[in-house]
Amino acid sequence: MAGFKSCNQSCDPAILPFCNVMIRPTVARVDLSALASNFTTIVNHLKAEQPVNTPGVIAVVKANAYGHGAPQVAKALEAAGADLLACADIEEGAVLRAAGVTAEILVFGALSVSDLDGLFDCGLTPTISTPGAARAVQAAAVRYKRRVRYHLKIDTGMNRLGFRFDNLTRSLPELLASPNLELDAVYTHFATADDPESPVFGQQRARFEQVLKDVAALGGMPKYRHACNSAAFLRDARVWYDRVRPGLLLYGIVPPPLASTLALRPVMSLHSKVVAVKGMRPGEIAGYGARFTADQPTTIAIIPAGYADGLDLRLASRGHVLIRGRRAPVIGSVCMDMLTVDVTGLEVFPGDDAVILGSQGDDRIDAREMAATIGTIPWEIVCRVGSRIERQYESSK
Ligand SMILES: *Cc1c(COP(=O)(O)O)cnc(C)c1O
Repeated sequence: MAGFKSCNQSCDPAILPFCNVMIRPTVARVDLSALASNFTTIVNHLKAEQPVNTPGVIAVVKANAYGHGAPQVAKALEAAGADLLACADIEEGAVLRAAGVTAEILVFGALSVSDLDGLFDCGLTPTISTPGAARAVQAAAVRYKRRVRYHLKIDTGMNRLGFRFDNLTRSLPELLASPNLELDAVYTHFATADDPESPVFGQQRARFEQVLKDVAALGGMPKYRHACNSAAFLRDARVWYDRVRPGLLLYGIVPPPLASTLALRPVMSLHSKVVAVKGMRPGEIAGYGARFTADQPTTIAIIPAGYADGLDLRLASRGHVLIRGRRAPVIGSVCMDMLTVDVTGLEVFPGDDAVILGSQGDDRIDAREMAATIGTIPWEIVCRVGSRIERQYESSK
């Protein structure tokens, strides 16, 4: 496929016979120009909607950039203008620094039981979400003789990480008085941004507004405030504050059940090839557990991708793969390394392209559709694409 390269090394021809770069038939293509375009689309939308005090973006690249490959994604976002990235833990931040990312990196996770050296060695910005983390980071900052800028996380009702919204007069003074810690931002996270029916979103928003007043009354002077993930960004401009924190939208996926008119492009597609084709007689079974029985002469094709590659078992008898521009239903069970599709009536041969996620001909199967098919969320679909699957990055702009 033009524009996609799998081996970026320019090897000495003399060593090519010994080259051990091998490509499996199943690959994930990651379109970095679509990623940059999605980032720019979000930035331009913010500018158009809010020309004065335009919010910035925190580009979320946790979990290996939602399975897309954190180093490549982070560097492409940085090149597109991202000045603040966010990851889940210190270890992910270290991977980004090792890849040469120089933009500021915010760590979302709790740090109370982490090895904190990486914060200093890699120049990461911590989230402080518990009193224990506050003390641990303060103590580490003293050892390093450094002053650390941090983001304060407030729990406005999700009951995950963060200082409780209703207890700040007791919990915050010690943190605000920590000599080596400097409050940079205050943030919260919504539990139900993607559920227009839920009253929790409005409740969390009101609590956060009050928290901002309470923090100020306690003498805290954050430079900025942020609250919204992709769903909240689409849903309510009142929670954009000074920065928005999209993850899913950057990867070209709109969080269900929301819709968006933003011109987003899917970043990842999953491609394989037919490795075997065979005929089944009526009454014969296919696969583990004999979950499929042919009721007529049936042609099946074997695709070399299975649950070890992150394909969900529930795709069996539900999912589809695009072959020869048509939807071939997944039959039998999804195996560790393979799945089987029904290609009856199609002229299919070993070597034919099979698209698991992405488009072929006029049809397309995206992460949102696959998630709906098996009863999960699109985040899980992309995050779970296995480490055995090589990511091929589009090299052209
Ligand atoms: C993952 C995450 C995001 C991004 O969420 P999306 O739904 O993918 O946009 C934003 N903020 C925090 C704190 C997160 O953990």
